[in-house]
Amino acid sequence: MFSFSTALLDILFPRRCLVCSVFLSHPLSFTTNNQPLEKYLCVSCRQLLQASESSSDAIRLVGVERVFSGYLYSGLFEKIIPAWKYHSRHEFFPLVKVLLDLALSRREISGPATDLVIAIPLSRSAFRKRGFNQAFFIASYCAAFFKQPLGRTLLIKSIDTPQQASLNRRARAFNLGLDTFQVPEPQKIAGRNILLCDDVLTTGATLSTAAGALKNAGAASVTALTLARVHQT
Ligand SMILES: [Zn+2]
Repeated sequence: MFSFSTALLDILFPRRCLVCSVFLSHPLSFTTNNQPLEKYLCVSCRQLLQASESSSDAIRLVGVERVFSGYLYSGLFEKIIPAWKYHSRHEFFPLVKVLLDLALSRREISGPATDLVIAIPLSRSAFRKRGFNQAFFIASYCAAFFKQPLGRTLLIKSIDTPQQASLNRRARAFNLGLDTFQVPEPQKIAGRNILLCDDVLTTGATLSTAAGALKNAGAASVTALTLARVHQT
């Protein structure tokens, strides 16, 4: 939406591409367009993004009926996600919203309609250290998008495990045990078709372990949704 106050701000403080920092087109050379990404990414980064759009989700994960990932974890996402996640770069929040919106509008998620949205939780101490849970941000957005409730406390992680991102593929599989995630109120999970959200799918060990806990509590189905996924060869 064009407004004089945002145009003035853009003149005084020209926007830069969030990924590569080049200046974005000046608002006085404004041509009306409805491309929300143009506010955040330069032409080259938008082209990189297009190349990383994920069109198929032929990934199989134990305990998960469907997997939906918006993008491949390409060079562009290798910059966006760590900056957003570990350095709390708050300017990335609106960009992530736009990326999710584009991914969910481009492709439908097959199978039964979601009736409950849940995020992969962080342990209490990991949350304190990082300050926010990026999976919860994605889940909140999905709950609003699908107009379904968000189960804020329905899946919890009470024990600390080494961060999956710090481990290799083999160690990731053994890092998470059956007791990693807990479902404190199984009656609220029983019979539900759950959309389980995380930022990146790497081996899928986290999503499978969490889906197992939800299935043990009686979930009818679990669809895993991630912003990006590492390309499996
Ligand atoms: Zn750029």
